[in-house]
Order: sequence, then structure tokens, then C-alpha cells
Amino acid sequence: MKLDLLGDRQRTHYCGELRKEHAGQTVFLAGWVDVRRDLGNLIFLDLRDHTGRTQIVCNPAISVEVHDRADEVRGEYVVGVEGEVVVRAPGTVNSQLATGEVEVMARTLLVLNEAKTPPFPIEDETKTSEETRLRYRYLDLRRGRMQRNIRLRHRASEVVRAHMGEHGFQEIETPFMTRSTPEGARDYLVPSRLHHGYFYALPQSPQLFKQLLMIGGFDRYYQIVRCFRDEDLRADRQPEFTQIDIEMAFPQRDVLFDIIERLMEKLFALVDVKVERPFPRMTYDEAMEKYGSDKPDLRFDLEWKRISLPLGWAFEVSGRHIDNSKVLRIPKGASLSRSQLDKLEETAIAGEADYWRWVKLTEAGIQSSFSKALPPNTVAGLIGEAEAQQGDLIIFLGTVGASAERRLNEVSDEMRHKFAKKFNLIKPSTWSFLWVVDFPMFDYDEKEKRFAAMHHPFTSPREEDLEKLESDPKAVKARAYDLVLNGSEIGGGSIRIHCQDIQRRVFKVLGLSDEQARERFGFFLEALEYGTPPHGGIALGHDRINALMAGESSIREVIAFPKTASAIDMMCEAPAGVDPEQLDELGLKLKQD
Ligand code: ASP
Repeated sequence: MKLDLLGDRQRTHYCGELRKEHAGQTVFLAGWVDVRRDLGNLIFLDLRDHTGRTQIVCNPAISVEVHDRADEVRGEYVVGVEGEVVVRAPGTVNSQLATGEVEVMARTLLVLNEAKTPPFPIEDETKTSEETRLRYRYLDLRRGRMQRNIRLRHRASEVVRAHMGEHGFQEIETPFMTRSTPEGARDYLVPSRLHHGYFYALPQSPQLFKQLLMIGGFDRYYQIVRCFRDEDLRADRQPEFTQIDIEMAFPQRDVLFDIIERLMEKLFALVDVKVERPFPRMTYDEAMEKYGSDKPDLRFDLEWKRISLPLGWAFEVSGRHIDNSKVLRIPKGASLSRSQLDKLEETAIAGEADYWRWVKLTEAGIQSSFSKALPPNTVAGLIGEAEAQQGDLIIFLGTVGASAERRLNEVSDEMRHKFAKKFNLIKPSTWSFLWVVDFPMFDYDEKEKRFAAMHHPFTSPREEDLEKLESDPKAVKARAYDLVLNGSEIGGGSIRIHCQDIQRRVFKVLGLSDEQARERFGFFLEALEYGTPPHGGIALGHDRINALMAGESSIREVIAFPKTASAIDMMCEAPAGVDPEQLDELGLKLKQD
């Protein structure tokens, strides 16, 4: 097909802009053919760009040439149209379309480019598989929904920049090719051609650089920055993701929290959500106790309680005493049938609970899954502890043996969500922000028999816990905090260690000798010796925040070119093999398995 040239023609309007007031004007629109309808003597084209669609009428009575040309175009062809805006006849107004009261009578139709038939229709709601969408991402991005998401993200980034600027934060770039940074994941490595056998690591976060910027006197820093973590596959993880990374000198936690809360307020205003400030705070211990999670979803009320058992009575499983148990009261839960409860029990046991019993407080009396009838005073005691009323269901959950506490938390978190879903308890249009504070400083790895930093090793212990650092590391709390929204962790940070001596002691607990610490972070430890101000900060998950704002459950919906859950770029087909010469230049050889 012979294509037309755009020449020096300028668009007068976008495709979503024309209204009744434009009637009588001659306009020039350009975009993609969304739909073509051939009614024999008339051909209609819906012309689409990022702002919307306009109906174009190709009428041979106005131009035979335009009508002939329109006969040749197909969906996704790129065309330019010049013509007059006219008001549609009353019966033909399309109320679904913002431009639906008008149409353009084409006098000129330029076919600027052809298009192959796309592998899926360009529509807002799609049933196309994600793989196909990602393989043809440039077509997927034409869909209104993706346009809205990516454009919302742009506005969110603008809000971040303006807000941080207002508060005196400097946007400073930090290197992508660097040394390993300590966020606890595997590094992506870049081999050096000039120095065979040496590698750069892509940063898991700019953690050390932002601390160095505080030592360098910048006072307040931020960056919307890509981070790279080679982590195990999980549904909603991306090997490269974006953080709003923030650090400030002489920090007061409350000041930082306030800056972040106001940022959230502005961001969510973009989607007409009013954010309530200040955000509530909860200690890590309380979150784990009541919700079994350090990122509890507080859009619903279900709370686990640890119970003291009535005297002389113990929960047992296969003769073993249950040492960790919690009880959950589900208001009006007695309506669940036995088979529904059996299904939930299967889930709980598959989720590694060792013990599961229920009690229903029905009108007909008390029913329970306890194997032997409970003495009435025991029942009364348990109901009292659970603060249950008639119509309620009470669930008892327990674990024994190795990692009992961890498993109890995991299952209680999972079951809490299951019940919330079953009983539709999640309040819609609720935005529940929460600061979780006072995290433990260390995580004990049972398998490796050693401590790991729960946040990262530059996080400061609470001052009052310093003396327990060596004697009782498990009891030491960190000056770390997470920001949670509707059960998703959207940020995390801490007040940092700024004294060499404490940093050295923390490394010791983590099993790093002075020697090893110097080898890994020597440049940083040295910097700490030159007058480091107290400092602290946070990193917010830009992808996750945008997904929540856009109402999407996957962060891939707010990233222009994401990778699949198995870290593959379907479109570019990355990762890919390389030429043997390239490997040779890098001094690398592939292992033959
Ligand atoms: N660097 C940390 C992270 O990426 C955040 C922080 O401590 O500021 O999780």
C-alpha cells in the first residue's frame, strides 16, 4: 500500500478532546484506527490516541478519495484526518464516549502507516494471557488501562520530586556499577573487561551511598532509583524494581514519619483518596502477637489472642503438649458448616499448624471439634477468654516443636485472611496505613545457627538495648520501621549506626570478624571515622505504591517493561546467550554441564 507523508501537518487536537463547542471547526487529528465499520456507502473509523477516541465519517459525498482510502485501512493503521467537526444527530450520540456528541467529516485521510493484525485486541479489559501481553508489550501499552497506569506513575514521580524538593531533599544519583550492598539478596554481577576476574555488583539498594552522602554533608537526599536483587522467584517480584530512597542527617523519627505521611497524602490525592494522618503505629511484637504478621492488614478487625488455659487442661496433639496456641474469635462465624470448617482445617494443617479445633456458639448450644466433651467450666473459661458471643466461631490454633512460634504466626496470618475473605470483612475503599516499629535487631537462622540482620547491618540498635548486644542479641530491638498499607509493606527504613564502635560490635554479632568487615565494607567503615552525623532514612516501594494507587494487584501492571515472575523479558528475550568472543573479552568461560 502506498503510504502518505505527514509533511508539515500539525495535530490541532487530540482524539479525546472534541466536544460540541468545536462544531464547525476544521481539525486535524492523528492516531491509530481503533475500529473500522463499513456500512457500504459510509465508512466509520474510530480514531484513537492516548487521550481517547473520536468517530471519523468517511462519506463519498464529501470525498470519494477519502472513502476509497478508508476502504483500505484496518485496525491499528496510523492515520491522519482533516475534516469538519459536526454535532451528531440525536439518535446517534454515543454516551459511552467523551467525544460521543460529535464526529469529524473527513475531507483528507492520510494513511501514515500500516499495521499487521495485532495478536490481541487493544481493549481496556483483556483476557489475553500475560505472556502474550508482555511479548507484545508495545501493543499492550496502547490499551487505555496501561496508559492510565503508566501516566499515573509519571504524575506520582512528579509529586515525589516536588514534595522532597520542598523539604530540602537533594536528588542525587548513585552508581549502578558498584560493590555488593547488603540487603540480604543475591547480587547481579557485571564482569569487568578491563580487569579480568573482577566484577561490579548492581546495587541491591543505594544504602551505603546514601549514608556516605550524609557523611558528605548533603543533609537530605532522595532518589527515585532502580534496585537489583537476584532473589528466588515469587509471583510479584521483579529483579529490578524502583524505590523512592530517602536519607536525612540529624533525623528525628517523628519528623521523617511526618514527611512520609504528607507525601502519601499527596500521592493518594492523585486517585482521589483522602489519607488520614497521622498514621497509627504498632510495635513489631504487637503485630506478630495479634496478626501473626509484621505487615498486618487492618482493614478488618480479626485479632488473635494468646490464651491461658483453664487449670488442669492442656491442648494436646498425638500426646504432645501444645506450647504455642492462639485463639481467634470470628463474629457470626457459627454459620460455617462442618465441611467448610474441615476445608479450613486442611488449609491450616497444610500451612504447618499442628493443632486446630473449633467451637461454635450456636442457638442450639455449643458444638465443637474437641474429641471429648469439655467440662462446662472449661468451655465457659475459653469462651470468656475469647470474649465470644452467641453466633460466633472460635478457632484454636497450635504448633509444637521446632520453629513452633514462626509457624504459628504464619498460619495465624493466613487463616486470618481466609476468614476475612469468607465473611467479606475487608472494608472496601479503605486505606489503612500503619507504621510498624521496634523490629528485632536480629533474626536467628536455626539452620545456619547464626544471626542475620533483620533489616540490614547498618541499622542502629535502640540505645537502651546496647548493653544486651553481645549477651542477649535476641532481645535487642532495632530503630527500624516499616510502612504498611492494606497488608502490603510499602516502605522500610531505620535510624543508622553512626559510630564505628557500635558498627563493629554489630558485625561481630553477625559473625563478621574485623577482617571480613573491612574486606566487604572497608571504605564505608573508614568513612564512619571522619565525623559521621547521626542519620537515618527509608526506602519506599514505588512500584507497589503505584499498583495500590492504580487498583492493580500486580506491580507488573505499573511497570512499562516488566519481567515475568521467572525474571524473563518476554519481548527482548532476555536473558540471552552471548557470542563466545564477548565471553573471551571478559575472560569468562561457560561451565559445561
Ligand atoms: N536500603 C533499605 C532497603 O532497601 C532501606 C533503608 O534502610 O533505607 O530496604
